[in-house]
Amino acid sequence: MRSVSFYKRLILGAVFVIVLLPSIVCGILLAKNELLRRQLAALAFPSDDVVVAGSSQLEPTGIVRDKPLLSYQMLYPDFKSSFFGFKEDLAGDKTIFLTFDDGPSPGTDKLLDILRKREVKATFFVNGKSNRLLNEKLRRAAGEGHGIGMHSYSHRYNVIYSSMENFLDDFYRNYLYIKSETGVAPEILRFPGGSINIFNVSDYQALIAEVLRRGFIYYDWNVSAGDAMAGATTQSIVDNVVNGVHLCWGPAIVLMHDNGKPELQGALGTIIDRLKSEGYEFRPLDNSIKPPMFIYPD
Ligand SMILES: [Zn+2]
Repeated sequence: MRSVSFYKRLILGAVFVIVLLPSIVCGILLAKNELLRRQLAALAFPSDDVVVAGSSQLEPTGIVRDKPLLSYQMLYPDFKSSFFGFKEDLAGDKTIFLTFDDGPSPGTDKLLDILRKREVKATFFVNGKSNRLLNEKLRRAAGEGHGIGMHSYSHRYNVIYSSMENFLDDFYRNYLYIKSETGVAPEILRFPGGSINIFNVSDYQALIAEVLRRGFIYYDWNVSAGDAMAGATTQSIVDNVVNGVHLCWGPAIVLMHDNGKPELQGALGTIIDRLKSEGYEFRPLDNSIKPPMFIYPD
């Protein structure tokens, strides 16, 4: 016959084993789980590259988010555009977009005169210039109804493509330059060297994503005039553009350069006259026009 206190202890012991022990084990496992979850989160987002967004201020699409933004996404919050979707997909159309990179230059007026005489509007993807006379040429191009887009401020590939921060810093300067000279904030851009080039081959997807996230549309080209190449002649430029346009299905975006070369000045009028007589139409680019090229390499 055991004592009453023995049974008391037995019952208490049973309660401990059946109820309290599993609860304690549960608590320990929960704490361990929380610790592992935090370690996993830290691995997915390195802490020094993440800031928590306080608001949706940088969302051109209007999406309200409470997820972390990458630190560079917080740079230059006013460097953005309002993109509401493409209104025009010109696939199949005989539309040509003449584009001139790298200006303004001492030769801009010559190009503008040729375009004005033929009532053709083109697009100038410009760099930053701290030259008052050149800035006047940029204002003339904008004033005459040509499209104006960004093409980086410095055009120095090794700087622009060395980091996302440098890319944004340079393009933001380009954005402010165009806005202050023309009074209109640019909405389109052309990457120096195109959206995929040997300088950005390891991070072009991030660059493109960031440009699009800020509401800008970028335009590559599907016809190259070859005017910036050594040995280019007036005839070679005419042939490159006319043959290239003939090979295009849909809108042709023609790459040329505003760098004062007489060969291009000699070719431009012939190119326009020839293609106009074949029923082609010339227009300036704006962000309502769907770019024909958004292709990543395999
Ligand atoms: Zn360029």
